[in-house]
Amino acid sequence: MRAVDIIQKKKEGCVLSKEEISFLIQGFTQNHIPEYQMSAFLMACCFKPLNFQETLHLTQAMLHSGKTFDFSDIPFKKIDKHSTGGVGDKTSIIIAPIVACYDVAIPMISGRGLGHTGGTVDKLESIPGFKMNLTFEKFQETLKALHFSMMGQTQDIAPADAKMYALRDVTATVECIPLIAASIMSKKLAEGIDGLVLDVKFGYGAFMQKLKNATELAKWLVKIGESCGKKTIALVTDMNQPLGYKIGNSLEVEESIDVLKDQGPKDLIDLSLTLSGTMLTLGGVARSLKEGISLSQKVISNGKALQKFKELIQCQGGDERVIDSFSYLPSAKRTSEFLSPKTGFVTQVNARKIGRAASILGCGRETVTDAIDPSVGLILHKKVGDKIQKNDILLTLRYNDEKKCAASMVELTQAFEIAPKKPHLTPLIQKVLGKL
Ligand code: URA
Repeated sequence: MRAVDIIQKKKEGCVLSKEEISFLIQGFTQNHIPEYQMSAFLMACCFKPLNFQETLHLTQAMLHSGKTFDFSDIPFKKIDKHSTGGVGDKTSIIIAPIVACYDVAIPMISGRGLGHTGGTVDKLESIPGFKMNLTFEKFQETLKALHFSMMGQTQDIAPADAKMYALRDVTATVECIPLIAASIMSKKLAEGIDGLVLDVKFGYGAFMQKLKNATELAKWLVKIGESCGKKTIALVTDMNQPLGYKIGNSLEVEESIDVLKDQGPKDLIDLSLTLSGTMLTLGGVARSLKEGISLSQKVISNGKALQKFKELIQCQGGDERVIDSFSYLPSAKRTSEFLSPKTGFVTQVNARKIGRAASILGCGRETVTDAIDPSVGLILHKKVGDKIQKNDILLTLRYNDEKKCAASMVELTQAFEIAPKKPHLTPLIQKVLGKL
């Protein structure tokens, strides 16, 4: 087989066999197939999309390009959650300790932020000392002891995806449903899970801007999961405006702790409880989503979920004093305020622009090797539907660098829309796909 023939075939819209897809992925992972050929293949896939069977083969080839975990000696169902990425989305930090209070194990492998979106790895690493680069042994030991562990993507897990994602990022081939579906599912299935809950975002701050496309992606993800024998549920949720009020790495840890203390913002609490409730149902602990939500609320109210998170911080080398005082988290030196230019109702808080503004401050990175500043970020004061007066504070910037603050302010001028009439509010969770 030759890579060039496979690329040609895809370019013409022909269906590739399992063997051809495996050949390409194996060859690329082992550096026999160069990046320019893989780039050409990825671009061909954007114009002549892989069908479902091809996508399944691609997922499996990527999944088997590296190590797969086997936690069959842990006597509970292994359930994870994945979000397609957004702004202010810190639900992983909230739901993992909630679910871990019950007889379910959560082997959670997360990513870093890229572009305008944040990543759980960066957020948790803002806790002084907290290690996300665990060995497999430490990950397993923590999982057994606490029912959950959280670590970053390693080179051993689906290495084909890491290499392909880096290429997709610079060749404008990220936004392609079969490629996204194979990328996400290859990493998640490598975790040795029994079930998966997906939070597929749509809107300004999401990969998929339109509900229709996000729903399509959600269908593919569920179908791949089910075809691989895993219980898979996908929620399709609104990411037009940021989730919660705090955006930025240490700020998002603060807001997650607030939720675990039963004090967080409503949108973040509602989504977190639905996700954790779904995980508890998939894990066989709850008989229905309603019961799963109520069990989740119970461990927030009695402090058990917060205690679980504290134990995770201790176990993974972090400073657990952050639970009781946010002064132990990195905090930016300066603050500035972004004021409303007029009176009216907030009709849009554009999550992409807010994410960009946060990234400019230092929350995120443009390329995977950029350094981030864990202490900076944005605190929203108003969200869609809120009534405001001219000069009310819409948002506080926490920053360390004046130039970055000025550039972030420029981005923010486009982020808010204010109109005389109160907007119609739509539900955060738009759809649930898959069988519970
Ligand atoms: N997240 C992933 O892990 N992969 C993609 O392709 C897009 C989002």
